[in-house]
Parts: sequence; C-alpha cells; structure tokens
Amino acid sequence: MDTDDLGAWIREFARLVAQNKEKLTDLDSAIGDGDHGANMDRGMTAVVAALDAEPPDSPSALFKKVGMTLISKVGGASGPLYGTAFLRMAASADTTVDTAGFAKVLRAGLDGVVARGKAELGDKTMVDALAPAVDALDAAVAAGASQKEALRAAADAAGQGREATIPLVARKGRASYLGERSAGHADPGATSTTLLLIAAATALGDED
Ligand code: ADP
Ligand code: MG
Repeated sequence: MDTDDLGAWIREFARLVAQNKEKLTDLDSAIGDGDHGANMDRGMTAVVAALDAEPPDSPSALFKKVGMTLISKVGGASGPLYGTAFLRMAASADTTVDTAGFAKVLRAGLDGVVARGKAELGDKTMVDALAPAVDALDAAVAAGASQKEALRAAADAAGQGREATIPLVARKGRASYLGERSAGHADPGATSTTLLLIAAATALGDED
C-alpha cells in the first residue's frame, strides 16, 4: 500500500461517514447529544478538502494531515480521539505499508485512543470495535492470510465488537452519564470505527 492507496482508504471512510451521517446522529441522540454524525462528517469533509489542496507525499504525511485536521475541526470527544489515533499512525507508518505494517499502524492508532481516553474493552466506546479489529488483523497476518482476507477479518471483527456494545452500560464519555439507560443501543463511536475498517476492506482489499 502506498500513499495513494491509503489516501483512497481515507476518502472511502469520508464517503461512508457522509452516507451514514444520520445513523450516527440517531445513535448519538439515543445515548449522547446527537452530534456524532455531524462531527465526523464535518471532520472528514475537511480532511478530504485538505488532501485535495495539498496531496501528501508519504503515508506518514497523509495520516498527520488527517489527525491534525480532525483535531482542529471536530469538537467533542471523537475529534481528539480519532485525531490522536491518526497522529500515532503517522508516527508508526513506513514509506510503504504491507499488511503487517498496516496492522502495526492500526495498533499504534488504538494505543493512541487508549492513551488519550483511558477506555478499556467493554466500556462501550470506539475501543470496543478497534481493539478486536486490530487483534483480528494481527491473527490473520500471523496465519498468512492475504491482504484481502486480513482486512475483511478486521472489518468483521469491528462489526462484531460494535454489535457487542448494544447491551453494555457505558463507562466512558457522555453516554456514561446515562448509567443503565445507555444499555440497548450501539455505541456511535464503535459504529464510526466499524465504518473505518469497512472502508479499509473496500479500498485496500483488492490485493492478494
Ligand atoms: P461527544 O461525546 O463529545 O458528543 P461524539 O458524539 O462525537 O463526542 O463522540 C462520541 C463517541 O466518542 C462515543 O460514542 C465513544 O465511542 C467515543 N468516546 C467517548 N469517550 C471516549 C473515551 N474516553 N475513550 C474512547 N472513546 C470515547
Ligand atoms: Mg456526541
């Protein structure tokens, strides 16, 4: 995967966020303040504009631009969390990224989210989608899976992690203010993170 391939991933994520803006808003209306769809769409629209204005020349520069743009454009918890993830990804990305390298990059992103937000697995946050996705990617790489299979496994694991947030009571972020009433709804951030992994499988999953 080169800079253009990884840029296509980010653009596909922006497209999926725009397409699912209302769904993300509805989920955040149920257990938060209803701005997650608008937050992510504003941020990713700004990201695509920034990439168009000045195309990055390395994966690291790409991820840095994504992270800086999200931090500056997205208020709320998700901007700094996704922003930190992408800045950590920038720091860990090599000039070209193979499937194992992509797993390393995503792991760095997860570590950034956890460092910033202190959420653990089961707290009903984006970590509940991202952590299983990174684990599935590592396992697929270790088993010698193709890039396509590995990214599909990661997207599936993210989706399962997202589903698993439905019965959980939130212990981090705005949804935690609801206590028991946060149960029964999927976490909005776990849902947008699942879109990020689906975007990877779509945009980067055509190589064997
Ligand atoms: P806000 O909660 O400030 O309105 P958003 O609605 O954009 O921000 O994002 C909410 C999402 O952020 C939640 O669904 C959750 O996945 C994620 N989130 C909130 N706090 C944390 C945290 N401490 N660690 C990880 N993710 C978090
Ligand atoms: Mg919100």
